[in-house]
Amino acid sequence: MNMSELKALIKDVPDFPKKGIIFKDITPLLADPKGFDAVIDGLIAPFKQAGITVVAGVESRGFLLAPAMAARLGAGIVPLRKKGKLPRKVHSASYDLEYGTDSIEAHADAFAKGSKVLLVDDVLATGGTAAAAISLIEALGGNLVGSAFLIELSFLNGRKKLDGRNIHSLLTY
Ligand code: AMP
Repeated sequence: MNMSELKALIKDVPDFPKKGIIFKDITPLLADPKGFDAVIDGLIAPFKQAGITVVAGVESRGFLLAPAMAARLGAGIVPLRKKGKLPRKVHSASYDLEYGTDSIEAHADAFAKGSKVLLVDDVLATGGTAAAAISLIEALGGNLVGSAFLIELSFLNGRKKLDGRNIHSLLTY
């Protein structure tokens, strides 16, 4: 499947979850066998020889991508979760929302010494979530090799917030 065929399986939902946002609904793409296969292949393509040991997925939609990517790379997965979900000692990183802040958490011992980490999420928008995820991974001793996004909303300049990082996005708008 080429990129425009993949894009055709993503549905734009205007004014969700609030007015002014065009939500990218990836569920039809994930439900398509050939589409899902192409997505997972495309996301891992630059990292196949990178010796990735764990794929860190951001809750919630990063969880739909990380396991299949990890299985193909021969890696494990680490869930980067919303506040209060993990049962043991955690480390958190906060990021700004339109109103207030939110945070993501990982177990303090989530990344084994020397682990080589690939971060994944469905959408790179303003970059706040990814910047927090990267700071969390690095604070816990993970060695971030790169970040993979199914969709990059380039007009929001999220890439700028992740300056100097190895960023791979499959579909750009
Ligand atoms: P940001 O922190 O602004 O880069 O936002 C990224 C996070 O918000 C990702 O975890 C996405 O799942 C979600 N997100 C932001 N904008 C959209 C959008 N237009 N459609 C779907 N998800 C989005």
